[in-house]
Amino acid sequence: MEIVAPAPQENPEPPPFPAGDGAGRPTLVGADRARLAEVVRDLGEKPFRARQLWHWIYHRGVRDFEEMTSISRPVRAKLAERYTLVRPVPAEAQVSTDGTRKWLLRFPDASEAEMVFIPEEDRGTLCISSQVGCTLNCRFCHTGTQPWVRNLDAGEIVGQLMLARDALGDWPSANEDRHITNIVMMGMGEPLYNYDNVARAAGILIDGDGIAISRRKLTLSTAGVVPVMQRCGEELGVNLAVSLHAVTDAIRDEIVPLNRRYPIADLLDACRNYGGINNARRITFEYVMLKGVNDSDADARELVRLLKDIPAKINLIPFNPWPGAPYECSSRNRIRAFTTICLDGGLTCTVRTPRGRDIMAACGQLKSASERKRAGV
Ligand code: SAH
Repeated sequence: MEIVAPAPQENPEPPPFPAGDGAGRPTLVGADRARLAEVVRDLGEKPFRARQLWHWIYHRGVRDFEEMTSISRPVRAKLAERYTLVRPVPAEAQVSTDGTRKWLLRFPDASEAEMVFIPEEDRGTLCISSQVGCTLNCRFCHTGTQPWVRNLDAGEIVGQLMLARDALGDWPSANEDRHITNIVMMGMGEPLYNYDNVARAAGILIDGDGIAISRRKLTLSTAGVVPVMQRCGEELGVNLAVSLHAVTDAIRDEIVPLNRRYPIADLLDACRNYGGINNARRITFEYVMLKGVNDSDADARELVRLLKDIPAKINLIPFNPWPGAPYECSSRNRIRAFTTICLDGGLTCTVRTPRGRDIMAACGQLKSASERKRAGV
């Protein structure tokens, strides 16, 4: 199967920053079991050491080889000579008045992405990024205005969760009071345009002997990369959220340009065929409420019709404005009327409460600080 991503725009010059850890040692954060087996073999150690490493890295979350007390001193020293356990660097961290936290993460090549933690009564959700920037250019999304685009590797994706656990005191994985119970890939980027790295990261995140986030609590959000959706269901079995946002191709072509390649009918077919969905395990359809664009009663009725044979939940997202955004959020009354039509039509429908607005942490507002500074916004 050929998967063609829209060509990333030319990268502007990245700000200066030393690559790697300065000594050129790679991090083992993001190494899967096969990679750790290789590491152990290269050191001339027995295969069972790979399991020990896995446990220390992903169950205990240690940041220093010296803490790996079940591994002999000389082996710890050899590991430290060749590798590190570094996570992305938190260049900035902010806490909202509602408890939401946002981190600006910096990677060794100086590119940046944002990560958000949203505490709720019954759960804590970490929203992580899959790319630096995004190639999709959805018209209402701030990330889409950012030119610098690259894929994050598996270590940079898993490293986000590990850094958040460091900050929230969530280690070891067996800790019953973990703050982070759910992970959503709804930060910057299109996860299905970075499938290989996302799949490797997902494998590490859901491994029960390591980070141990249940695959039912890991959600990938996609704008609808139809050819990759099926693989995602079959190979990963994670939850899927689909950014639908419009009920006609004319409007969706405009606000989610990926629709020109994968129109609504194809997208909904891929949803119907998504592995393992049923009434207990539904696809979430995200729908951003844009005043006068996609929020009429007729739109709501069409949404009910389109989704009637798909196990679906609708999540209406009040549009989060950002400086220079070409849209406004629908009024409260409009959102209420839209919700009522969906509910009366038999759909499960919730309205997402904007969180962390005071720190620009809400959906679609994520953009790196260096970009903002350069653009003067
Ligand atoms: N590329 C993935 C992840 C993107 S972000 C996807 O498209 O699903 C997660 C969600 O936030 C998407 O539904 C996205 O459309 C939505 N979003 C983006 N900008 C927004 C904004 N300004 N206000 C509200 N929701 C927004």
